[in-house]
Amino acid sequence: MDRSAAAQGVLDLSTGQSVIDRVSRTYGIDSWGFGYFGINEEGHLTVAPHKIPGLSIDTYEVVRKQVQARQAPPFLLRFPQILDERLASLHQAFAAAIEEYDYGGRHIGAYPIKVNQKAEVLQRLVASGRRYDYGLEVGSKAELVAALAMPLSERALIACNGLKDELYLRLAMQAGRLGRLAVIIAEDLTDLDMTLNLARTLDLQPPLGLRVKLSARGSGKWEDSSGEFAKFGMGTLTLVEALRRIESAGAGEQLKMLHIHVGSQVNDIRRAKSAFKEAARVYAKTCGMGFEIEYLNVGGGLGVDYDGSRTASEFSMNYSVQEFANDIVYAIGEVCDAEDVPPPTIVTEHGRAVVAYHAMLVVDVRKVVAPGVVADGDFGAIESEAEPVLELVDLAQGINAKNFRERYHDAVQQRGDLNSLFELGYLGLPDKAKGEWLFWKICREVAALSTTMKDRPREFEELDRMLASKYVCNFSMFQSVPDFWAFDQLFPVVPIHRLNEVPTERGVLCDITCDSDGTVDRFVDTKHLKESLELHGLRAGEPYYLGFLLIGAYQETLGDIHNLFGMVTEVNVEIGADGRWRAGRPIRGDSVRDVLRAAGHGPEALREAVARRLAERKTSGLIADPDEHEVLATSSRVLDDYTYLV
Ligand SMILES: *Cc1c(COP(=O)(O)O)cnc(C)c1O
Repeated sequence: MDRSAAAQGVLDLSTGQSVIDRVSRTYGIDSWGFGYFGINEEGHLTVAPHKIPGLSIDTYEVVRKQVQARQAPPFLLRFPQILDERLASLHQAFAAAIEEYDYGGRHIGAYPIKVNQKAEVLQRLVASGRRYDYGLEVGSKAELVAALAMPLSERALIACNGLKDELYLRLAMQAGRLGRLAVIIAEDLTDLDMTLNLARTLDLQPPLGLRVKLSARGSGKWEDSSGEFAKFGMGTLTLVEALRRIESAGAGEQLKMLHIHVGSQVNDIRRAKSAFKEAARVYAKTCGMGFEIEYLNVGGGLGVDYDGSRTASEFSMNYSVQEFANDIVYAIGEVCDAEDVPPPTIVTEHGRAVVAYHAMLVVDVRKVVAPGVVADGDFGAIESEAEPVLELVDLAQGINAKNFRERYHDAVQQRGDLNSLFELGYLGLPDKAKGEWLFWKICREVAALSTTMKDRPREFEELDRMLASKYVCNFSMFQSVPDFWAFDQLFPVVPIHRLNEVPTERGVLCDITCDSDGTVDRFVDTKHLKESLELHGLRAGEPYYLGFLLIGAYQETLGDIHNLFGMVTEVNVEIGADGRWRAGRPIRGDSVRDVLRAAGHGPEALREAVARRLAERKTSGLIADPDEHEVLATSSRVLDDYTYLV
């Protein structure tokens, strides 16, 4: 790279701060990065799956190599070693808590498949989790089939949740014959009756569980999935009746598990704590009724600090993984001691915290649209005698730190006049263009001057929003980050290169779907949300890549094929002990053919229809042979092409 540019990148003379440190703070990389993300000397975003800075993957180099090999962005980069690291630290946290509180039982985890169902993710977690007897949580027939095919360890659990039909139950009950420990967790009495009846018919004694609904509510965005109003689970009345039915069916010895789930992304630990205490009490009292429950399954809920604020904010969490583990182990241990019942094996089903960090979407910026700017447009040269235009010409001159606010107000008024006169037919298009050009020019100067104000008034924040450039990115929000659109979930977004240059622009991100909702215009910040993101200006002939981070949980298969944009190309990247990274063979994203088929169009039938029409037109003498061949060749190429801009 250019040495002088690198040298410039080292120190910002005005502040004495390293530029890289400053840029890192701008994006909050150290706050939400959890030790996995950083910036190298080249100003590239790095990923350190083992949290060892010397062993890190240069994401820009990964992308550059893919593009060199003629793969087109967008890419989903996966870092499977982060999955290993997350599993290890989660299990270590529980082991430490068990030691600290001298807990008499053990802890095992199960991965909830719904959080990321991709085969490679599942296979990696299962392989990496064998040493911890890591199991799986399933909520449907399809997930159960996937789980049964996995090489779990002997002691690993398959927790079967969700409403069930006969085939789901039948398969779960036969899991024992495969040497798998599949616990069938009844969500309600219907579920339980069906299970007990089928078990009797099949003469099988599968391990059973009951999903318990607590009175304490979880907290955070997803809190409705716990507490009294939760969709699933048994309240006290139902639970007591369920226990009675199990007893009278002679299945008391099969009842092995009680299950709760506090809801996803718990942001406030105090709420979760009371849920764990209540769950422990339900366990102890059930034991007291003579049931030998082996497992207390406390579900998922461990959060991810998306905004890096370490607060109980919607996108954050006010606790550490260790604190969460401590609270679970302590609450259960304490209640069991007090009630003099044996400590159960604690089961957890953390999904988000396990998979969120391991995947990153990289998109290329296609163009930048700034209000009032047209490349090579010479609007200053337009002659106009229109009153508001002449006023704006005056206003645009000599704006300074003293007069900028007044000038801004005047400019807004003149722009109003400009619009009114145009509507009434007094102005031509060139007059209006010149007026608008002047208005935006004034706005930009005013915005720059206003940043020095101590208590910057709101109107200037609104001005920032108006001035934000639109960075048009080659991706579909609906496909790749659906939670942003559906649930206002925020994810960190960072350029993956040029991080040794201070970003001078502000922008919002637009996707390439024709949907105006396809805009990312809220960004994480440790203090308050940002309505535009600090970005770099585009350089001619150079790509500009942005990374959407922490998107490994709940995004990949929730997406729809809006506008028929499909799955993106995936690349697995690992770091070797020698400090060199290696990328696996890319898994090509959906082709046009794939998404057409998914939407019920037979691509072959479409092609035949085109061929038929061409043949007819040829017969009528409207086109010639070469025309026909060209259209057919182009159609074939489009069917095989990537759905995104290539
Ligand atoms: C979704 C779900 C989980 C995973 O929750 P996270 O918040 O992602 O950890 C665990 N258990 C059950 C029953 C679930 O439905």
